[in-house]
This record gives sequence, C-alpha cells and structure tokens, in this order.
Amino acid sequence: MAEKKSNAKDKKKKDQPKLKTLQEKLTVKYPNLFDLTDAATLKQAYAYADQYKQFISAAKTEREFTALASQRLEASGFTPLQAAGARLKPGDRVYQPLRGKALMAAVVGQDLCAGGFRVLGAHIDSPRFDSKPTPIYEDSDLVLMKTHYYGGVKKYQWTTIPLALHGIAVTQDGSAVTVCIGESESDPVFTFSDLLIHLSREQLQKSAAQVVTGEECNLILGSRPLADKGDGRFKLQVLALLFDRYGLTEEDLVSAELEIVPAGAARDVGIDRSLIGAYGQDDRVCAYPSLTALLDLPQAVPAHTCVTLLSDKEEVGSDGNTGAAARPYETFLMDLLARSRGSYDELAFRHLLEDSCMLSSDVTNGLDPSFASVSDPRNSAYLGRGMAVCKVTGSGGKAGASEASTEYMGAVCRMLKAHHLPWQSGELGKVDAGGGGTICKYFANLGMQVLDCGVPVLSMHSPFEISHKLDVYYTYLAYRCFLEKFA
Ligand code: MN
Ligand code: MN
Repeated sequence: MAEKKSNAKDKKKKDQPKLKTLQEKLTVKYPNLFDLTDAATLKQAYAYADQYKQFISAAKTEREFTALASQRLEASGFTPLQAAGARLKPGDRVYQPLRGKALMAAVVGQDLCAGGFRVLGAHIDSPRFDSKPTPIYEDSDLVLMKTHYYGGVKKYQWTTIPLALHGIAVTQDGSAVTVCIGESESDPVFTFSDLLIHLSREQLQKSAAQVVTGEECNLILGSRPLADKGDGRFKLQVLALLFDRYGLTEEDLVSAELEIVPAGAARDVGIDRSLIGAYGQDDRVCAYPSLTALLDLPQAVPAHTCVTLLSDKEEVGSDGNTGAAARPYETFLMDLLARSRGSYDELAFRHLLEDSCMLSSDVTNGLDPSFASVSDPRNSAYLGRGMAVCKVTGSGGKAGASEASTEYMGAVCRMLKAHHLPWQSGELGKVDAGGGGTICKYFANLGMQVLDCGVPVLSMHSPFEISHKLDVYYTYLAYRCFLEKFA
C-alpha cells in the first residue's frame, strides 16, 4: 500500500514538469498585465494615463482633437506638408490637417518611402448629438434645442446627465466662431430630460430602442424670458445671449456644427485608480497613443516612413470628404512619396501602397462580466490583458470585414513577442450577437496590409466608457514598436 502510494507520487512528480513544459510550449495565455509590470513601468503607465486624461478632457470633438494634436506636432518640430518644400529628406517631420476635422502626420524614413509606409490609423469622431439646422424653440415657458444623434447610441443613456455644447459656427461676415459651454467649473451645463418614474408605466413597456426617441432628445437651454411681454420672448432671450456672446443669429445656426457631448473631465475609476472613465474613448483611447507613438519616435531616423492618420466620420460609415474612405488620405501618402522622390509616378505609388503595413487602431469590446452572454469567453478580449488584436471584424458571416492575413498578423505578433510587449486576441462579440467595423477595410482596399489592434473597453458608445490604464500604456508601446521596428 505504502509502496504503491510512493509510486503514484513519483509519477505525479514526473508528469508535472512535463505538463508544465507542454503548457508553456503549446498553449497560449494572456496574463493580466499587473503580473508582468514592474514598479517603474507601472509608474510610467499611470503618468501616461494622466496625460491621456488631460488631453481627451481638452479635446472632446474631432475639431478640438485636430487643433490640439496640431499644436503638439508643431511643438515637436512637425511642419505643414505644404510648407515643407518640394523635396523631403529622411527625418523630416510633416503634418496636414484635413478641413479642421482630421489629421495626417508623418516622419520620413531613411528609405524615402521606398519600402512602403508604416501606418497607424485611428478615428477622432465619437458618438454624440448634433444641433438640427433650425434648433432653438420655446415650449411651455422652456427654451429647447432640437438635436440629431450622430453614430450608434442608446439614447436613454444620454438623458438626465450634464451635457456640454462644443462647436463652430460662421457669422454673416464669414468669420468662424468657436463655441464651448459646459466644461469650465463656472459654466452652466445642458441636459435632456427623461420622464419621471411615477408616470412611466407606458414608457417602460416599450423596447429599449424606443424608450427615448430621437425627437425626444431636446436639449434644455433656458427658461428666463425677455422683460418685454410678447410672443417668443423665452426663445428671444436665449438668442440674444448667443448673439451677445458669439455674434450668432438663428440664420447662422442653420450651417453651424454644434456638438452635444457629456460635460466634465475624464476620471480615474476604481478605488485603486486602475481604470479610466471618459466620454469618447472610442476612439481617442487609440488615437492618442497613435499620435504620441509618432511624436515620441526617437531622433534617430526610422527605417521606413512612419505615418499617423486620424480620421473623421468613422461612426457614421467613414464617408464624406473627411472620412477614411475619402481620397485625401491617399493623396497625403502620394504627396509624401512625390516629395521624397522628387517626382510622381502613379504605378510606383500603387506598388508602394501594396508594400505598406498598417495597424487600424480602434477599440474592441472587453468582456463585461455583468453582460458576459454576448461574448465568447475563449475569444473575447479582457480588460487588463493588453492590446487586443482582432484578425477580423464585421458582422454575421464576416460581412464588411477586412481580414488580416495569417502572414501579416503572425509577423506583427512575433514582433510584439520579440520586444516583450504583451497582447491578447479579441473579437467584437459572439458570432451573430451583432458586430461592427473599423477604418481597416478602406486602407486594405488600397492594397495595404492592415490589422485591427486597439484597447478593449466597457460600455462602448455610452457617455462614460471604461478603459484599463495598463492596456492603454502597452497599446502605446506596441504602436511605437510597430513604427520603429516593423520590418
Ligand atoms: Mn471606433
Ligand atoms: Mn464606435
């Protein structure tokens, strides 16, 4: 009996190392980043998170992101491409805003573009509400603003929270006026009302998509009338305030771009401050690392030309003259090649696009334990396990997807491994649970190799999206590594 037991023990001992060896050799694991991160790196990651929070608190719209990022680029020695002269040389840093709503920037490589571009592409528009062309009206002694939602939103999430008004309008003399109300402590905020629970018996029987409808999202602007008695005095008082402060009339609002976004700054979430809560982390949580990866390139000239593209209109399909499907992004790359070579050759440019490699930097869903049923736990990304690499996005039978090739994805993952940069595999929910796309396919359509990689988030498209500080930092490191090292 004793003998037998000892044999079993020996066998167990012998098996254990083999099991462990085989596990390490044959299986894939995505450990929690806290288990891989030393104290010094943790400190850097949290400092990076603070800079990120500060940036996205100041740049909530595509226009604000473009303006602030352009300032940062200028401060780091980037010059407008059009002013850069006819010939670019290795190490030149150039950028080009696109209609104030999107941005392209590059560092010219040693090979003067000959080996293809290394591109990071993210989008800087986020779901929100826009003002309608004739927005302001009074009803029941209140002044309200008609709105039109932009992108995919659960409208009920946007009621009864403080909202801010950001945007731009052009006055009758053609000058542009910037509007931002609701962000400073002394500013008023705005809000969409929702029905009181006491009278919601009928509302609560509706499907969630109908609980609050688009036409019920009317922004409360005020309730104090002009002292003069007469029709429309509540609305006129608000118009008078807008005119006094911004010189805007009702006619100017027809063409205005006023965006309604959640008021307030990005915050730490959790008693351990390990998470970040903010509006519009889709996709500024990838756009900021894509920008800083380029800004923080070392002074040594990179082998290949490194490019960051920050596009608009992703949340509504990437169309229009600032969306990723538009030609100006291609034109920027063409311009880089022409100025690097001193001549333009269409065929050479087409081949160059085919030799180019891109990371499509966009968020994916992290598995939410409170709503786990929509995710495949074996294939979902998890908060805190690193940048999520998605071989394929789209919906249904991979419809609308650009799938990265095994050769390209394998090469990117091997590069990350070689530089000890953790990553995890991700997908946008269970097959047939829904789905979604990124700007990936528009650049893949040009012939580039493109792979979706980004930060996993919770509560995507809500007014308060959640990311993990270490995911954000390691995504930044991975993007930088890609620009510097990807052959
Ligand atoms: Mn996105
Ligand atoms: Mn989105």
